[in-house]
Amino acid sequence: MIRVDIPNKECVGCGYCCIQHICACGRAAYPDEAARGEMCPSLHWNGSRYVCTLMMRPGGEGEFYKWQMNAGLGCRNFLNPWRNDVRKRQGKNG
Ligand code: SF4
Ligand code: SF4
Repeated sequence: MIRVDIPNKECVGCGYCCIQHICACGRAAYPDEAARGEMCPSLHWNGSRYVCTLMMRPGGEGEFYKWQMNAGLGCRNFLNPWRNDVRKRQGKNG
């Protein structure tokens, strides 16, 4: 296997990762929406970027989701074009 040592880029909140594929936590929390191929109900446009409301839950629950989803460790989809055009999206096609 060839591994390329490229450091992650910071998350800019473009929403590409969540809109293209609901993560495991999102699928567990919203199985019906995931089965219907809908956008994750936890994905929220805050006016300037997307945020995950599961990660914002109080009482340690949000911290659990951050840990589960590696929040803060950078973007693993850093070649996606949405990163350069952060705006509210209508679906997978933009
Ligand atoms: S694709 Fe990258 S920049 Fe966009 S929301 Fe996901 S992690 Fe953040
Ligand atoms: S909004 Fe949160 S729960 Fe939904 S797919 Fe993105 S990271 Fe997962």
